[in-house]
Amino acid sequence: MPTVLVTGGAGFIGSHLCERLLKEGNRVICVDNLITGKEENISHLSNNPDFKFIQHDVSKYVDIEEDLDFILHFASPASPIDYQLYPIQTLKVGSLGTHNTLGLAKAKGARFLLASTSEIYGDPLVSPQKEDYWGNVNCVGPRGVYDESKRFAEAITLAYHRTHKIDTKIVRIFNTHGPRMRKDDGRAVPNFINQALKGEPLTVFGDGSQTRSFCYVSDLIDGIYKLMLSNTNEPVNIGNPRELSILESAKLILSLTRSRSQIIYKDLPVDDPKVRRPDITKARKELSWQPKVSLEEGLKKTIEWFKNGGK
Ligand code: NAD
Ligand code: UDP
Repeated sequence: MPTVLVTGGAGFIGSHLCERLLKEGNRVICVDNLITGKEENISHLSNNPDFKFIQHDVSKYVDIEEDLDFILHFASPASPIDYQLYPIQTLKVGSLGTHNTLGLAKAKGARFLLASTSEIYGDPLVSPQKEDYWGNVNCVGPRGVYDESKRFAEAITLAYHRTHKIDTKIVRIFNTHGPRMRKDDGRAVPNFINQALKGEPLTVFGDGSQTRSFCYVSDLIDGIYKLMLSNTNEPVNIGNPRELSILESAKLILSLTRSRSQIIYKDLPVDDPKVRRPDITKARKELSWQPKVSLEEGLKKTIEWFKNGGK
């Protein structure tokens, strides 16, 4: 039975990943310091003898006795509100945390997968974004703490691959939604859904013409699982290529929730990317992966989850 260590496993994406890995017959060790995650996200796994939770900050030395076959490094604050609230912790987990977990992979002879992000493309000057685009990042802006920590994480991951011959993978995750997102994480999807359900105005930032492409979490997890088992060492985009403006997404959520809330406009945050859409040609070719859940279908599931009190 392979043993997989998941850092950030008590978070939104990490908890779905732990669940999937257990289903696929792996032992799972989840390491999380709960800075933005919740033990509740993994409480349904706690009776499984193949699951273990360790509360620990991976920016500090990570000591694991067991043999490990894979390390999946997902620990990091991820929503713009979270990483601006914890800028230093974000920079540390992307740099020191990635260094520590790569060192662990080297010591254990384990394969390594880094959760990177579409944010490494910054405010992109080309669209859709292909993996060979270098990006347009303001390193000293408010989003720089996240973007640069992930850019460093990618660089050190490939340095360990090239220098120490570790089998490493990098997934560049585009906006993802689904159950276990926090109501208050400040991202567009949970904000709009919860505002619509409460009959409060939906807060669209700027004029809402900036675009995003939203992927449902089960599709993302499929892509990550395929990448983990693949021979690919270069970064791969995983996301849903259907692009829409933020105003359109607010209107779609109003219609799916049958809400009569108004839309109000607020200032656009500094350095907010104007466009974002993944080019998934590489994932299609190398992983035979593409999303299966339509935007409407996925949003309905996320809405249902928040309707049930986020449980
Ligand atoms: P999340 O905040 O729900 O999960 C992150 C988890 O990491 C949390 O449980 C948190 O407590 C933990 N963590 C943070 N710092 C840690 C540390 N130093 N030591 C141990 N644990 C630590 O966020 P998420 O949306 O699930 O994101 C997970 C990963 O996916 C992140 O690396 C993020 O950058 C990446 N990602 C997410 C998205 C998205 O749309 N959700 C998009 C791009 C990339
Ligand atoms: N946004 C918005 N209203 C909100 C929250 C976010 O208009 O209440 C916008 C935000 O400015 C950005 C987009 O929605 O243009 C997506 O923001 P999110 O925080 O979900 O993630 P990002 O893609 O910016 O990391």
